[in-house]
Amino acid sequence: MIRKKLIAGNWKMNKSAGDGATLVKDIVDEIGRETSVEVVVCPPFTALESVAKALEGQAVKLGAQNFHHEKSGAYTGEISAEMLRALYVTHVILGHSERRTYFGETDAFINKKVITALASQLKPILCVGETLAEREAGSTLSVVQTQLEGGLKGVALDQITTVVIAYEPVWAIGTGKVATTAQAQEVHAFIRDLLTKLYGAPLAQKVRILYGGSMKPSNAAELLAEKDIDGGLIGGASLEAKSFVELVKAAAAAN
Ligand code: PEP
Repeated sequence: MIRKKLIAGNWKMNKSAGDGATLVKDIVDEIGRETSVEVVVCPPFTALESVAKALEGQAVKLGAQNFHHEKSGAYTGEISAEMLRALYVTHVILGHSERRTYFGETDAFINKKVITALASQLKPILCVGETLAEREAGSTLSVVQTQLEGGLKGVALDQITTVVIAYEPVWAIGTGKVATTAQAQEVHAFIRDLLTKLYGAPLAQKVRILYGGSMKPSNAAELLAEKDIDGGLIGGASLEAKSFVELVKAAAAAN
């Protein structure tokens, strides 16, 4: 197994500090010592501390959903990498389509965060993906290429395997519409080829590429069986212990 499967839960703007701690306790109780899959939960900022406490001594890792690339200063409403590290955060979702759409994040801005995350011992989960209009216009691969190259600008050879890529077709996020396995695998293989051109095959083979977009227990096994699908970034189905744990088990079975 060259790439360990990874299941990451993106809770978005859901779960209070107390509810988040309860959810991870339920998750940990169910998955026990399952170590063949890397599991990450990404609560909102306000639940990071309680969830970190609930995860003490456990293999499940803690991620954030965003941060600001500057170290400190006059950035009202923002959170730095150092603040996240102090709460035992190891991963950070960057470039999620909701941040691109609602908060105007550009590839150049996302790239600053990727570079800072890597310099701050945070593993970026860099999201890329096309809208429905872009897919229908036949520009899926060029959109993904622009976002990937823009997001990874300046990422060095010795850093690339720390980065996780998440392919998330925007039309499949929270809509119940999942990409077919063939549609997903086509883009994942394209991303792997791009990484090969940028970093060489041995490194590109080690980078995890997650699928995100209405992944749930009923469709996970089929997606996770694809050669270049190394796990999932899960929104809706990460908010309940039962469905999230079933996804972790599907990933373990696909190893
Ligand atoms: C997401 O927002 O990253 C996501 C994949 O959401 P959902 O699983 O709800 O489609």
